[in-house]
Amino acid sequence: NRRFVLAERPQGEPDDRTLRLETVPVPQPGAGQMLLRNRYLSLDPYMRGRMSDAPSYAPPVEIGEVMVGGTVSQVESSTVDGFAKGDWVQAFGGWQDYALSSGSGVTNMGKDPQHPSWALGVLGMPGLTAWAGLTQIGKPKAGETLVVAAASGPVGATVGQIGKILGCRVVGIAGGSQKCSHVTDVLGFDDCIDYKDAGFAAALKAAVPDGIDVYFENVGGAVFDAVLPLLNPQARIPLCGLVSQYNATSLPDGPDRMNYLMGIILRKRMTMRGFIVLDDFGHLYPEFAEQMNAWVEQGKIRYREEVIDGLEQAPAAFIGLLRGEGFGKRVIKLGD
Ligand code: NDP
Repeated sequence: NRRFVLAERPQGEPDDRTLRLETVPVPQPGAGQMLLRNRYLSLDPYMRGRMSDAPSYAPPVEIGEVMVGGTVSQVESSTVDGFAKGDWVQAFGGWQDYALSSGSGVTNMGKDPQHPSWALGVLGMPGLTAWAGLTQIGKPKAGETLVVAAASGPVGATVGQIGKILGCRVVGIAGGSQKCSHVTDVLGFDDCIDYKDAGFAAALKAAVPDGIDVYFENVGGAVFDAVLPLLNPQARIPLCGLVSQYNATSLPDGPDRMNYLMGIILRKRMTMRGFIVLDDFGHLYPEFAEQMNAWVEQGKIRYREEVIDGLEQAPAAFIGLLRGEGFGKRVIKLGD
């Protein structure tokens, strides 16, 4: 069993000392347990938070512990009711080849799911994040303008496509012309603005002639600076993530703008609400799954995935994900 454990807590960006590859015997399941063989490992921005012991909504991974992660796995052997050898499951198997599970929090996907790895993206946690954050907090109405950050990633791409289904004008924000073309030409957003371009703020302003009614926040930082003056009265901001800040070791220099922000929220009577998807909206999963499976089958929601072969690639692929080097949902395929 190959596995990555947390070797040291990163200061700033993780590097090759952060995680350590170990080989240990395959664990033996006890009574009421099953042995899972992990087939796909999801890479997600929240993992950066788990490497740190700063206060958060979830406890950190301890030094020497296996790095946490969502997986699509296959049951090798089982004494757990409802799970049999060969079943595909959605689990939290971590960064390793094999994991033990009691079945708690594990979803059975049957013997022959069509796209098993999609359960880590559009049909799983990131999809639920997009759907629930947008419908429960953003509450977009037809004809309104929706702006979405990190628009080519699994959350942002899904948010914008749902916005189009609901009749909004949808403008994405992404890094680079290749991702922006994908967002408009493949995903069907009305426009997409490159935040790495020098004229970003002016281009964003021109793309939202009626202002912004819903801003789905995934990144924070300079992107939010450009969005803030364009928000309309009564705007709604699902505060989903701040990935531009995850490697930061301190607050940025500069004048304290807390009161500027609070003044805008007050005068524009805006709603900004943070959420943690499984805690706040996990109970909506069945409703989400039914709706999203239908949209995907009907071709109304498109999904781009980047499959990287080999567990040993996971640390570099994760560091690249936070830098914006990924294009679509990054998953690691575990070898035989
Ligand atoms: P993505 O695949 O979209 O990956 C992150 C993307 O963030 C990068 O590709 C990059 O976009 C963008 N990014 C990174 N640094 C910057 C920067 N400095 N400025 C602007 N953009 C930057 O991730 P996900 O779709 O999985 O997640 C999106 C967000 O949702 C994350 O913040 C994540 O933490 C959050 N999330 C929150 C959940 C919750 O429960 N609240 C649950 C799931 C996700 P580009 O490639 O365009 O440069």
